[in-house]
Amino acid sequence: SVIPDYLTEALGDVEPDTSGEPAGYIPELASADPDRLGAVFATVQGEVYGAGDIDTEFTIQSISKPFAYALALSDRGFDAVLAKVGVEPSGEAFNEISLESDTGRPLNPMINAGAITAHSLVGPADLNPAERVERVVQGLSAFAGRPLRTDEAVCASEMEHAHRNLAIAHMLRSHSVLGEDPRAVVDGYVRQCSVLVTARDLAMMAATLANRGENPLSGERVIPEPVVRQVLSVMFTCGMYDAAGDWATQVGIPAKSGVAGGLIGALPGQIGIATFSPRLDPHGNSVRGVSLFERFSSDMGLHVMGVP
Ligand code: GLN
Repeated sequence: SVIPDYLTEALGDVEPDTSGEPAGYIPELASADPDRLGAVFATVQGEVYGAGDIDTEFTIQSISKPFAYALALSDRGFDAVLAKVGVEPSGEAFNEISLESDTGRPLNPMINAGAITAHSLVGPADLNPAERVERVVQGLSAFAGRPLRTDEAVCASEMEHAHRNLAIAHMLRSHSVLGEDPRAVVDGYVRQCSVLVTARDLAMMAATLANRGENPLSGERVIPEPVVRQVLSVMFTCGMYDAAGDWATQVGIPAKSGVAGGLIGALPGQIGIATFSPRLDPHGNSVRGVSLFERFSSDMGLHVMGVP
């Protein structure tokens, strides 16, 4: 196949760009090797093509958000989840302390306020926090098609500096958007963010969304089709935070970034794409990951609204 050669060439082109910085606010992430670079395509037929660092593990971080939202929608139903988390783009940074003024509902599940809430809605209502984390890790594993585990060091490191997420969770509790101990929910959310994945795993997770909720390799139906549509729509409008509009116009693929340097895109009926490069732009999106997606989109005409 010519795809691995194409990917190798694309990686070579973006490799000299060492602009940006790895996330600094989670000390364990700041010490990650910033030169890692990889890209993977996974088709809905289950073919996987990759180049570069595709089997290096890193933490999933915010890329867990669309998947946890998907699990919440599957486990609790649309009405219960929409009552607590909206679907409007915020145009703000991922960790902005912003809630709808009348309801106290977070604007969408891709920013931290909405993602912390979505985490609290995974599984049946009677789960305790540890059981809920178990359901999240099991669900993320089903998307990836292999058992995943958390990175305890990154998790502990983030919890020590989680004041902002704790502040958000306390606000949510004061509006009764969260019904339980805010610290336990943040602890579970941070655990969710510390799940270890490779670029290959992320491409399979994206391919499961592209394949309407069925993992192309294991054949397991992870979430129902209506949930896939909801999740891809929210990724398209909100997945890149305050860069979502630029991304929608220039790249045009439903996507999600994470502060450890991962980036995924899912093209319905076609492929899942993942890139890994830890240096981030001011929005918290991977610099070389964004360049790679811009290139993939224009080279292969992947923009969902069509080729100009
Ligand atoms: N765990 C991180 C946080 O809550 C995730 C942020 C991200 O990847 N953008 O701050």
